[in-house]
Amino acid sequence: MNEINGNMRTIQQISAVRAFVHAARSENKTIGFVPTMGALHEGHLSLLRRAKSECDVAILSVFVNPTQFLPNEDFEQYPRDLSHDSRLAQEIGTDALFSPSVEEMYPNGCLTTIDVPDLSNRLEGALRPGHFRGVATVCAKLFHIVQPHRAYFGQKDYQQYKIIDRMVHDLNLTLTVVSSPIIRDSDGLALSSRNVYLSQEDRRVASSLYKSLKSAEALFHEGENDAEKLEECARSLLRKESLIQVQYMELVDTETLDPIKTVESKAVLLAAIKLGSTRLIDNIILSRNVEGNHSKSNGANHN
Ligand code: AMP
Repeated sequence: MNEINGNMRTIQQISAVRAFVHAARSENKTIGFVPTMGALHEGHLSLLRRAKSECDVAILSVFVNPTQFLPNEDFEQYPRDLSHDSRLAQEIGTDALFSPSVEEMYPNGCLTTIDVPDLSNRLEGALRPGHFRGVATVCAKLFHIVQPHRAYFGQKDYQQYKIIDRMVHDLNLTLTVVSSPIIRDSDGLALSSRNVYLSQEDRRVASSLYKSLKSAEALFHEGENDAEKLEECARSLLRKESLIQVQYMELVDTETLDPIKTVESKAVLLAAIKLGSTRLIDNIILSRNVEGNHSKSNGANHN
């Protein structure tokens, strides 16, 4: 069943999205696509606004994809509120909201999967084996269904962005993957649909993650290039918070995600922590231009 919500189409069927996209493409319209799992916040909305401003048609997908959750993860509890998402998406001027059911996306399960091994096995992938296979596969399916010219991803999930970008390149898919800056709360915590899991006390402490990344960035801007020292600078700040367990804090190459020993001109510091039973991830790009002047990067420069 498909509805028109204001000027926004709400679509559950793959065939109906295909028809919508076909009509738009036959009018030579460009299509911007924002894939999400819903529970929309300002981070998602920033991607949608960008899609809307850079393309003729903005399509949002809301799909809590079961294949990217490990058996012990929060697939069942993941926050879902489609009417809230629909209202926000419509306010921004989204043209179509695609919210398929699991049966619509996987009527016969999914025997075919996509792996991007070297980028996927480390960091998040080491802690969540199989996660990126689920992400890459569902994104490939969504790209084939929605056929966007541009797909928008948050720098918040840096490893995910790199994996999808590489998949698009390797498989010669005809779209551009765009990375957009991390949107944060006033205390620096990166917005995430999972932040609702945090207790009041956890929420207070959670901002330390961004502070730790900023402290490493400050040290880098003072001239420190040694990866271990920069990582330790961030870790030492987090050690002060007994509620926080660091899962990784790694400076890696911005393209290959290989660990580095020294930051030449650019690297990304990727972090994951556990606060109670909630995992939080964040990152910061450290970059220095060739003249030796320091420049702060928010990672908006990947497209
Ligand atoms: P999710 O619904 O969590 O799967 O996220 C959907 C998209 O929104 C992904 O490309 C995320 O990287 C992006 N995103 C999530 N949180 C933020 C944020 N705080 N700032 C910018 N983009 C975000």
